[in-house]
Amino acid sequence: MIQNDIKGRGIKDKKALDAMARIPRHLFVEERLRERAYADYPLPIGDGQTISQPYVVALMTEALRLKPGDRVLEIGTGSGYQAAVLAEIVKEVYTIEIRKSLADIAEKRFRELGYKNVKVKYADGYFGWEEYAPFDAIIITASANHIPPPLIRQIKEGGRLILPLGNTVYYQMLTLLTKKKGDLDVEQMGSVAFVPMIGEAEKRR
Ligand code: SAH
Repeated sequence: MIQNDIKGRGIKDKKALDAMARIPRHLFVEERLRERAYADYPLPIGDGQTISQPYVVALMTEALRLKPGDRVLEIGTGSGYQAAVLAEIVKEVYTIEIRKSLADIAEKRFRELGYKNVKVKYADGYFGWEEYAPFDAIIITASANHIPPPLIRQIKEGGRLILPLGNTVYYQMLTLLTKKKGDLDVEQMGSVAFVPMIGEAEKRR
């Protein structure tokens, strides 16, 4: 997986590559899917949701330019795999999941795998996590047609936010924002396909 699908497609960030080489991805999917856990595509995790394709996890992780002391917020915990990758790299990870069953399973996984630097919250991630803000980086792993304003406020000066931005369910533009002197620098990174963000983000579509 690392050689062909990730390095082979140009990911160079050693921190991301090392983290993904260490993490047992098969423990983030149901038992019946374990044999396919390292394949080059997303897999179902229940409730119509998916664990992202390994390459996309690597691409988003690299784009965030993480440093060991960083505090990162993730919206869309899902299986918990992306949060685990972040937790191997940075000091603190906060992750929010709107579906209770998924939040509970991920929380149990983090406990069993010994991730003590990940905090899970069952809530609508649209509003971020004020109590621990601001964050060095924010990663939204569900698509939206706009950037939730509360999340923009919760990025530190110099901080980064990445999300699949777009209106259609089939593909969105992976978009990286960097906060510079209060302004946002925008970089488009190519198209991806994510499940949509539900809750407040949907009401404002
Ligand atoms: N990062 C995950 C994959 C995310 S799939 C992983 O590594 O496995 C997208 C997830 O976003 C789903 O679990 C979905 O329930 C969640 N989600 C959708 N809308 C949300 C919202 N408003 N707040 C928090 N989570 C949301």
